[in-house]
Amino acid sequence: MEVYGLVGNPVGHSRSPPLHEAAYEALGMDARYVTFEPAEGDLGPALDGAAALGIAGLNVTTPFKRAALDHVEPDGLAARIGAVNTIEFGPQPPRGYNTDAAGVRRALERHGVELAGTTALVVGAGGAGRAIAVALDDAGATVDVANRTVERAEAVAGLLDGGGAYGLDALAELVPAAELLVNATTVGLDEDRSPVPAELLGPHLTVMDAVYSPLETRLLREAAAAGAETVDGGWMLLYQGVEAFERWTGREAPVAAMNEALRARL
Ligand code: NAP
Repeated sequence: MEVYGLVGNPVGHSRSPPLHEAAYEALGMDARYVTFEPAEGDLGPALDGAAALGIAGLNVTTPFKRAALDHVEPDGLAARIGAVNTIEFGPQPPRGYNTDAAGVRRALERHGVELAGTTALVVGAGGAGRAIAVALDDAGATVDVANRTVERAEAVAGLLDGGGAYGLDALAELVPAAELLVNATTVGLDEDRSPVPAELLGPHLTVMDAVYSPLETRLLREAAAAGAETVDGGWMLLYQGVEAFERWTGREAPVAAMNEALRARL
């Protein structure tokens, strides 16, 4: 049996086990996906143990995504983003990837959003904001970053080819000029709040929310009412898992089965 899993703290509410196990079932694989919750300083011993036990791959979530860089050989994208969310054991040292970036790109592609040449605005500059901004920049978009703490927006913008860094007071000018808007803040997570004033939204925009609880955030509800296309955070979550599955197994992921299992739990 192949064993995959997730390290994070906490991991109790993770949707990754049903997402991945739906893929194993659809493809008739003898595999399991298990969650692990090491104490915050114990990532190194946990990863050494996983390698010694023959675990094939691990996803990594809060608070370990940045620390994981020190225990793996990251690919260029994970090194640039400064975070690892997927580890492949077998090679020594284990390989580290960031599939959040592919997750957002594939989610937008699935919805027919053209990224090359697009003017994009990422609101938020934490872990998700970094991965999303780099993914859009790599795909040829011009990416502005707006964040409550401007210094963090500047740090993310420094990773990109073009675009600028702003505080949230600049949204009034940035949103009307953008074609793609992505919320990468935690605003809207289990609460009915939006990081972007509704009056700025309109049919010129595609609006994606990284928040997936609830699936229909206030931002997406107000964007749809204003005539914008919307892409919910479940699609990014789906495709980061699809990308991890494909990296680990070398097989094409059964996307429809994974999506069905995920949506049943969101
Ligand atoms: P994080 O590193 O903690 O960053 C939080 C971000 O939210 C920062 O930009 C922070 O701004 C901003 N923020 C927090 N409270 C705010 C407020 N009251 N007003 C304005 N901005 C506020 O979190 P993260 O890991 O990037 O995650 C962000 C969201 O993305 C979460 O909801 C997470 O669930 C989601 N996510 C989704 C996926 C997916 O696959 N769909 C993947 C990863 C993350 P400051 O810098 O000023 O503090």
